[in-house]
Amino acid sequence: MAEIQIKNVEKWFGSYQALTSIDLTISDQEFMVLLGASGCGKTTLLRIIAGLETASQGEVWINDRRIDHLAPKDRGIAMVFQNYAVFPHLTVFENIGFGLRMQRRPNHEVKARVERNAELMHIEQLLGRYSGELSGGQRQRVAVARALAMEPDVILMDEPLSNLDALLRLEMRAELKGVLAGSKTTAIYVTHDQVEAMSLADRISVMHQGRIIQAADPLSVYRDPAERFVGSFIGNPPMNFLPATPEGGGKWRVAGQSYAGPKTDHTALDFAIRPEDLQPSVAGLAAVVKVVEPLGAHVLVTCAIDGQMFRSVLDSDTKLAAGETITLQPNADRIRWFDPQSQVLVR
Ligand code: ATP
Repeated sequence: MAEIQIKNVEKWFGSYQALTSIDLTISDQEFMVLLGASGCGKTTLLRIIAGLETASQGEVWINDRRIDHLAPKDRGIAMVFQNYAVFPHLTVFENIGFGLRMQRRPNHEVKARVERNAELMHIEQLLGRYSGELSGGQRQRVAVARALAMEPDVILMDEPLSNLDALLRLEMRAELKGVLAGSKTTAIYVTHDQVEAMSLADRISVMHQGRIIQAADPLSVYRDPAERFVGSFIGNPPMNFLPATPEGGGKWRVAGQSYAGPKTDHTALDFAIRPEDLQPSVAGLAAVVKVVEPLGAHVLVTCAIDGQMFRSVLDSDTKLAAGETITLQPNADRIRWFDPQSQVLVR
């Protein structure tokens, strides 16, 4: 069992602050994804947990043991990094079994675990090959199999599927989810791919400029972004926003329409709705169609509402042409509101 606690961790590189006030508890056997744009501090946080980087301040605990002063090898953590760190002069079999050999596990156990994990990662036919002869994607799978073979209490993964083609990535994602769900491992997984994050995570920690902005289950992050940034970072296409002014009594004026919203004394709010939460209707927001993109399963329509770009995902049979005006009715349950100054969700 392994519960990980990160307490008030800060990281400075010279005068640059890469992490600010990171407080996060990852429950035993939880699959936590750190999600954010390039440079937001995901890898730095993972490296601090692994012991490859020292925090400027703060503590890291696993259960009731403080680990931030321990050497990486003494932390009981298996790691898969972006650059995979697979030994080129060893075969795939030897690479996957490397950690198990170090632990002096009996031969039959090493063999069984190596074969099982190679199969999971679809590299069983490569076991006899030298790792230096493999493609980037194959080496990456060797690294994942090596970490899984250890059956660790904690596994840290930094973009472990980044070098795979789209189809294999989809397949491996499902395999990984299945394996970890069936294990007792606590996992922290770094990615900038929001779909991967949504699909894998028990909880997602959304990071931005060195801070964790929201840590919640995927659907909550998607439906109730804690900040406007989360609404625009997660979701493809992202959330739409329009300015709103108060009409009194919890009603808000949005592009000439009236919608029920929070009863607050804000003098302005941002109205927000996801593109799939709009329906063409006789009444609603008047939108001038700019671009129509048929995407098979649906049609992506980019419009302008009061001069602001606004996107809607509509049924694939919807017939529309650029220049037309349509009215889009938002699903009332899905409307969200943000403070234009602080950018935080207002309920
Ligand atoms: P990516 O997805 O691109 O890997 P990331 O979110 O993992 O990005 P980090 O690698 O954690 O980002 O880097 C966070 C910030 O800290 C970046 O601005 C980066 O330039 C800076 N940084 C990271 N390592 C160092 C270092 N050794 N010295 C100076 N600055 C660093």
